[in-house]
Amino acid sequence: MRDFAAELDQRKQAGLYRTRRVISGPQQPELVSDGVPLLSFCSNDYLGLASHPDIVRAATDAMPHTGLGGAASHLICGHHSAHHQLEVRLAAFTRRSSALFFSTGYMANMGAISALAGRGDTIFSDRLNHASIIDGCILSRARVRRYPHGDMDALADMLASTGGHKLVVTDGVFSMDGDIAPLKELAALCRKHDALLVVDDAHGVGVLGPQGRGSLIEQGLTEDDVPVLIGTLGKAVGTSGAFVAGPKLLMDYLVQKARTYIYTTAMPPAIAAATCTSLDLIEREDSRRSHLQLLIAEFRREAAALGFRLMPSRTPIQPIMVGDNWSALALSEALEQKGLLVTAIRPPTVPEGEARLRVTLSAAHSMADLERLLVALADCRPLLESKSAEAV
Ligand SMILES: *Cc1c(COP(=O)(O)O)cnc(C)c1O
Repeated sequence: MRDFAAELDQRKQAGLYRTRRVISGPQQPELVSDGVPLLSFCSNDYLGLASHPDIVRAATDAMPHTGLGGAASHLICGHHSAHHQLEVRLAAFTRRSSALFFSTGYMANMGAISALAGRGDTIFSDRLNHASIIDGCILSRARVRRYPHGDMDALADMLASTGGHKLVVTDGVFSMDGDIAPLKELAALCRKHDALLVVDDAHGVGVLGPQGRGSLIEQGLTEDDVPVLIGTLGKAVGTSGAFVAGPKLLMDYLVQKARTYIYTTAMPPAIAAATCTSLDLIEREDSRRSHLQLLIAEFRREAAALGFRLMPSRTPIQPIMVGDNWSALALSEALEQKGLLVTAIRPPTVPEGEARLRVTLSAAHSMADLERLLVALADCRPLLESKSAEAV
């Protein structure tokens, strides 16, 4: 039998071993982690909606009418009116013809990609795409060609030299870097080469574009330009689940073919009801997004002044590039000593030698919270210098 214990030891020695912390209480910047209060800068709750009282109340108000469990898959008898209403709401929110509600973003990517491409087809995937996209590509059994991150010239060459059915897939906002894909160029290339474009806007929905409608609307791209939009609901939307949105024909095709849609129990319908309330808030209130923009600008200005290496990001994902795994861990641990929670992100989540602290900002952070982070970062800055000096 394989030596599982040795593999785990190896991980520990490489600074790659992962542990979980136990959080108590609602998700918000002030967390209790293993009994210790910490100020968190690592959740994806970008708008601070994960424990918003109106959304929590929408779920509890729905439950006497919907019960709790999903009870069956959508194609058997699990497709509840609450799910159906959410799909109508998501289509309107994203300005698309129709939408299909999935249980998680992981499943939406796995299901949509493996349904829309198969044996004999070719998928073109950005090198920094999310793990769920990579796994969807593998599951599809299509040929997968990865293009260098955001490199439209390389993609154009690959598309020109490939025949048959082509699918191009990209993160809208890249989850570990915070930058945005060249969406207009991608749409033009896909049109030119008759390729189906799929954009996973997990980190754009709720945050970018007018009324938080996402990266595509922000750039004026419609369903004609980008036929398949995938979004998740557990990040800025603050609830749970995901969706695929686009032309009715494609959604119908996914209902027939997407195995992660067909062969799983429907989400508790009360979650769908709560998600509609969250979308109402997101549409109605710009104040969260404008506060978030202030925090992002302030963080970038101050962290750059402290000499940290930032990434070209205007989104709430603001990684501090470190490099080696141990330095990233040391910086994260030093911040935790000061009561701040910022997780170190290491390979294979990011490429080898690109370990980083993934700082994420939320509308739930006050400017005082951010100042606390910046003061702690200033105190910890010498740690990185001594590390890199040792390495030389
Ligand atoms: C988080 C994430 C997902 C997965 O969504 P879940 O609903 O958490 O499963 C998919 N794609 C991207 C780009 C993500 O960041």
